[in-house]
Formats: sequence, structure tokens, C-alpha cells
Amino acid sequence: MTAKPKDSSDPANDWAPATRLVHGGTLRSQFGETSEALFLTQGYVYDSAEQAEARFKNEEPGYQYSRFANPTVSMFEERLRLLEGAEDCRATATGMAAVNAALMSYLSAGDHVVAARALFGSCRYVVEDLCPRFGIAATLIDGTDLAAWKAAIQPNTKAIFFETPANPTLDLVDIAAVSEIAHEAGALVFVDNVFATPMLQRPIELGADVVIYSATKHIDGQGRCLGGAGLGTKKFVEDQLAIFIRQTGPSLSPFNAWVLLKGLETLPLRVKAQCESASLIADHLAGDTRITKVLFPGRNDHPQAELAARQMTGCGQVVTFCVDGGKEEAFRCLNALRIIRISNNLGDAKSLVTHPATTTHQRLKPEARAELGITDGMIRLSVGLEDAGDLIGDLDRAIAAIS
Ligand SMILES: *Cc1c(COP(=O)(O)O)cnc(C)c1O
Repeated sequence: MTAKPKDSSDPANDWAPATRLVHGGTLRSQFGETSEALFLTQGYVYDSAEQAEARFKNEEPGYQYSRFANPTVSMFEERLRLLEGAEDCRATATGMAAVNAALMSYLSAGDHVVAARALFGSCRYVVEDLCPRFGIAATLIDGTDLAAWKAAIQPNTKAIFFETPANPTLDLVDIAAVSEIAHEAGALVFVDNVFATPMLQRPIELGADVVIYSATKHIDGQGRCLGGAGLGTKKFVEDQLAIFIRQTGPSLSPFNAWVLLKGLETLPLRVKAQCESASLIADHLAGDTRITKVLFPGRNDHPQAELAARQMTGCGQVVTFCVDGGKEEAFRCLNALRIIRISNNLGDAKSLVTHPATTTHQRLKPEARAELGITDGMIRLSVGLEDAGDLIGDLDRAIAAIS
């Protein structure tokens, strides 16, 4: 088997996404296995001392130690890289490890980062709490406002960071426009593309420099293991991200890489089915007078519907809605569900519902929640793979329990 990542002569470059996700990156061993092998090994033996020396000097391709690289992890990285159309990719133990590694491998004391304030809670911690402790200044802004991005840029701004759609309000950031603003200032654009998935939004084509995934979500898609990845130019990945991962150790385990690799094979089918159900559910909820608001980028009443149509090829599988009343009514709705389970996760085969104000966003002060538009009556639904009619029935029963 070859250890070298595949290059531009790889026939996978000519394949459509679905084909890349089934065959891309496969490293077949001497046994000719159909399904990708799980290389559950920490290290690798060398034929000679000379070979060991050559591997460590990077004069010969091959593996040395699984903190640096592992064949199963390489297969996952290459398959995701082919899907994303990025020059290079490195996997990490979690999505947060990817966010932290991508930013911390690049930024230094004296630098400045501008981020949208509608960020996944732990991402906000990295930018708002961790960065300043290491002398990296951070400015958080309303990511939907292009003028705010422009105004926040300083001479030392090195990184722009946002997610779109954002959790849980599904606000969008205009990737192309913000990338242009960032590049004029010489800053790199880091996009957390978890909610859109690599199937529905292609940040690099829109001008972003680094794309980050929590593979824990749709890429596994069946609630089994944690993982993450960062993708970008060869230069960024080799000079910053890969060295940081190799030296500080947030590496993905081969077992989790194997699960995620197999997850990629079915990603297009799962995301398509989930998006279709999410669309039906969003429309159904919007027709219910007891629901005061439905937030879904695929609906014309989404404040940024035009941008959604421009930069996404699908609307996503998360639907956020607000019930009339506050926490008590929202809790009553959640507690009455029978199929949809209460969980803060998303992207799973199982439909999951969460109350952001008391879980994922409880760390924020009430004013910060208000600034993000997170109300006590807000419910976030991650639509799974169950029958859409069953899910609608479950929601109807839960909404009836409110009043
Ligand atoms: C879940 C999530 C993360 C963090 O991923 P983990 O795998 O849980 O570390 C980061 N960003 C977004 C948008 C997420 O949904």
C-alpha cells in the first residue's frame, strides 16, 4: 500500500462527489479488502535503521507514529479533501480541536481576530476567552452586517472567523463578501461549515481560506464518535495546522477515523433526506398559529433567503422555531415529544431537539442571548432520518400540549 497522499494525477479528481465519497482516498492493503481497513496501531516498524532515518528526515514517504499520521486517518482526510476540493486536510479528535488548532496554529500575540458573535458556544470561548489570554485581541460583531465586518478590521487583523448558518438562529454570513473584505486587509477567512455540511455549501469556492468541520455531526451522522477536520491550502495545512497537530497531539483516533470514513459514503443520501424532511417540517410549523416564528434558510420568510439561495445548494436540516410563551411552554413542548429526543447534538439519524437558552447558550448572559435573538420560547430541531409524517405527528402532539 502507498502512504503518500494522492496527488493531482489521481483519477478521483474527475469524479462527482458521490463517487469520491465511496472510493476517494482508499488505501488498499496487500489483502485487497473491499471495505477500508482499520489500522489500529500506534506505531510502524521499519525494514532497517536507514529506513527509519529516512522517514524521520521526510526523505521517504511512510508512517512513523499515529500522532503524526495513520493510514485510516489518511483515508478519511483524503476523502474529505476530495469532497471539499481543498488542497489539503488534517483530521482532529473533535470539531473543537480543529477550531482551536486552526486558529492557534496561525495566530500569535499581537494579532487580532474578528468573529461573528453568533458562534457555537465553545468557539466563542476560544475567541472571546482563550485568544485574549495569549495576547490575541478579539472583536465580536453581528456577522450578518457587512459594514460591521469592515469597521472591525484593524491593521493587525489576521483572522476572520464565523459559522453560517449559525447556531441556533440560522443567521447567515455572506462568505464571498466577507472574504473580499478580509483579503483586502490581508486576513485569512476561517469558516465553521458544520451546519451547512460539505454537501450544501462550498466556502473555499466562495473565497474562504480555511474550512473547519465537527465530523461528530453529519459526517458520522449516527451519533457514535467525535471527530473534526481542518481544510485549506497546502501551505496553511503543512506550515501551520499539521505541525500544530503533530506537536500538540489533538489527533484523531484510527477507530473514529474509520467510523467517519464510512460515514462519508452515505453523507449525500442522509443530508438530502434530512433536508427534504426539514423543509416539510418548517412549512408545517409555519402554518401553525401557536408557533410564533420559524427560522429556516430554505423558506422565503427567512431574512436572508436571497443569500441562502446564492451561497447554499440546500437549506440544511436544522429548523429553529419559537413557541408562544417562554421557557415553561417550550419545556412542555419538549417533554411531550415521543419520537424526537431531547439532546443538544445535531446532524444525527435520530431527530433531536434542544432548548438553546437553558443548554447550549446558558453560559451567555441574558443580554448576550437577547443580542443573538435567542428567546426563552426558542426550540432548535435537528431533523433526522425518520419518516417526515411521523415527525410532524410528534411535533403536532407536542405543540398541542402547550395550551
Ligand atoms: C458541534 C460543533 C462544534 C464542535 O464540535 P465537537 O466535535 O463537538 O468538538 C463546532 N462548531 C459547530 C457549529 C458545532 O455544531
